[in-house]
Amino acid sequence: MTDSLIAEITTLLGPAGVITDAADMAPYLAEERGLYHGRARLVARPADTAQVAAVVAWCAERKIGIVPQGGNTGLCGGAAPDESGEQILLSLSRLNRIRAIDPVNFTMAVEAGVVLQTIQTAAEDAGCLFPLSLAAEGSCQIGGNIATNAGGTGVLRYGNARDLVLGLEAVLPDGQVWDGMRLLRKDNTGYDLKHLFIGSEGTLGIITAAVLKLYPRPLDIQTAFCALTELDAVLALLSRARAATGDQVTALELVPAIGLDLARRHMPGITDPFDQPYPWYVLIELSTSRADAGLRDSLETLLGEAVEAGEVMDAVIAGSIEQRRALWRIRESIPEAQKREGASIKHDVSVPTASVPAFIAAAGTAVAAAYPGVRIVPFGHVGDGNIHFNLQVPVDADGPAFLGEWERLNRVVHDIVASMNGSISAEHGIGQLKRGELARYKAPLELELMRRIKSAFDPAGLMNPGKIL
Ligand SMILES: Cc1cc2nc3c(=O)[nH]c(=O)nc-3n(C[C@H](O)[C@H](O)[C@H](O)COP(=O)(O)OP(=O)(O)OC[C@H]3O[C@@H](n4cnc5c(N)ncnc54)[C@H](O)[C@@H]3O)c2cc1C
Repeated sequence: MTDSLIAEITTLLGPAGVITDAADMAPYLAEERGLYHGRARLVARPADTAQVAAVVAWCAERKIGIVPQGGNTGLCGGAAPDESGEQILLSLSRLNRIRAIDPVNFTMAVEAGVVLQTIQTAAEDAGCLFPLSLAAEGSCQIGGNIATNAGGTGVLRYGNARDLVLGLEAVLPDGQVWDGMRLLRKDNTGYDLKHLFIGSEGTLGIITAAVLKLYPRPLDIQTAFCALTELDAVLALLSRARAATGDQVTALELVPAIGLDLARRHMPGITDPFDQPYPWYVLIELSTSRADAGLRDSLETLLGEAVEAGEVMDAVIAGSIEQRRALWRIRESIPEAQKREGASIKHDVSVPTASVPAFIAAAGTAVAAAYPGVRIVPFGHVGDGNIHFNLQVPVDADGPAFLGEWERLNRVVHDIVASMNGSISAEHGIGQLKRGELARYKAPLELELMRRIKSAFDPAGLMNPGKIL
């Protein structure tokens, strides 16, 4: 890009809206797992929707590709530009205003660059709950959450990001602004266009604002960490808990013995809640907006019955907010603990919830045969059928050589996922990382329909080129 083009863009956005210095651009180009090393001619930081539209129209005229970026916490290379150095990275960080909160309508209108945790806090201050919750919530942005249809820990009760959006505003690839900021829970007026943008990973347009669904704020939250010997018991425990509590189970997270081991070894302050090891653990959380619902009693009763039935071997119930945080920290430390332990190959997959134990058994056997000594770390949102089926390099084996097996081991795991009618990307999306796998596992007709949608919105292919398709 010539100096004159940079000058034009600076005229559109002002000096605060353009970064061209290599050192200042570096954090935008560094991606979470270090798998992609893209380059960009500049980072555009528009301050509002009108400026986003102006940059996009300017790029459309000149056929310049745009890579939208939120908090840059995505795990599939979706927010990383390619290596050509020709693309513009467009950061939404300055679109960080909460436009309105309506505790009667239970809605909040926000700009795309608001950090998820800021939204959670604002909802809480208004006596409400915004239930999307994930370990990256301190830095990911709502626009990125919507663009990836983020999942996280509350899906079992509240659904994915897709289920939490009532309206959207988006800048289309030609620079037009689509105002779909509806506050409606019922609107059957033809194709629901917002759902095309949700989960589109920036390939159809740039989300600039959204109307989010709020819920009553929970007044009682009860959390327990349970020890199991059989993985099948997870399903019995989930059914038991849903029935016994009037469906107040908010989260059900799986932790394998190796996950707890790694967390204890690498993460300061993590301790084993039990005095002996067990093969599996489950974190279960119940919540209600009634202060007098007797949730603690319900939890104690149902865990007592689960112990009697042989589903649960032992359990601890958090007695304070600090204890609750400590239990969640075990689960949330696993990815970082895996990083500190060495190389690992990731799978973010889902199967129907009832098939989770069979999937983990089948994939575990297949992977152990394909790479003897591999350490299998299956953890995650088991209550909604989503398993992070991660593979840790064998002890004393060569990390880079192990990572060289990424595609081969993906194939072993994904073939089993496909045979169980599962998904090769449960919540992280496709980005660049899983483009090949998508082409392999998605039905040709579905891929063809996706391509037609892409070309209807973005015929010149300028919106996040090379992602998903
Ligand atoms: C520690 C950790 C834990 C995580 N846990 C979870 C989890 O439990 N569940 C889960 O689903 N994900 C999880 N993630 C992945 C990640 O946080 C989510 O995918 C998140 O939704 C990405 O948001 P972001 O703002 O960081 O988006 P980015 O990483 O900046 O972008 C992601 C994709 O969305 C596009 N995009 C971003 N903003 C916009 C916009 N405004 N308009 C159009 N396109 C846009 C980008 O081009 C890119 O394709 C985790 C990540 C980390 C690092």
